Amino acid sequence: MKLKLPLMLLAIGCLTMGAAAPVRMTPVKITDGVYMMQHSGGSGNTTVVFTDDGVVVFDFAIDSADQTMAFIRKTTDKKVKYLITSHSAGDHATGSWHFREDKPVWIATKNQVHDLQMQERKEFEERKNLGDARSAVYQGKELGQPDIGIDGPMTLYFGGLTFQITPEARGHSTGDLTVYIPQKRVMLMGDLLNTEIHPGQGESAGVFFSNVKGWIQILDNIMARHLPVETFVPGHGPAHIGRGVKDLEEQKHYFVVMRDEVAKMIAAGKTLEQIEKEFKVPQEFAHYTRPERLRSFYKLFYHQLMETGY
Ligand SMILES: [Zn+2]
Repeated sequence: MKLKLPLMLLAIGCLTMGAAAPVRMTPVKITDGVYMMQHSGGSGNTTVVFTDDGVVVFDFAIDSADQTMAFIRKTTDKKVKYLITSHSAGDHATGSWHFREDKPVWIATKNQVHDLQMQERKEFEERKNLGDARSAVYQGKELGQPDIGIDGPMTLYFGGLTFQITPEARGHSTGDLTVYIPQKRVMLMGDLLNTEIHPGQGESAGVFFSNVKGWIQILDNIMARHLPVETFVPGHGPAHIGRGVKDLEEQKHYFVVMRDEVAKMIAAGKTLEQIEKEFKVPQEFAHYTRPERLRSFYKLFYHQLMETGY
């Protein structure tokens, strides 16, 4: 009985690991040497950067990182040297076990180290002990621990490339980081960017931490850098190669419009329950997949507009 509440909450959060359909990670070439492994069910993507000195992997889930590793082994004889995680949620930070043979150095923010330790580890162990089909991917594996926890921006020079790693403050999670690779004109966004899909609420072990105001601010901060980026690689959804900053503008626009719709309903005297029942997704976002993710976002928009501490 003890395990049930956090596990129920998981079902409505960002995670979709253990869903009925088998997970398929499809490599999509972003540019030379940079591939996004796109998740077939709209859960967390992974990005792989190949260099002459080795491989950098950005984000990895326990139920799909084996496919990423197989793709790497098929593509190069170089080792995985660095792991970087955007945030601590299960669909982005639980799969380091699959790269253990290569002994990569894992870089994360200090917030992530905390959240992995305090939330994700608990969830990982709980899932191991479920004893159902869903728990199979956890059996015999360990969560792993970052080697480096950063508090501020960090620049990694590796394989002839510059990886500008920036903790972006609280938005989707308690502190998603982004990675800008100027030589590739690419920026890895983690869950700060979702494409053609309703964004997921950041969550692990039943703790929710997305903040809409912070998320909008982060997108503004990144756009204000005016970086020469051709492709912002999303944490969920397909990569829009060459679309550049338009993806960030659309993500920000989504939050501004959706929050405004909720605000109008509040002003019309609607309760949260009524909003959840009566909300109509604006036409411009009607094609977005996974509308079930809105269930947690109604609460988020409502409570954060009302400043209830949610
Ligand atoms: Zn995610």
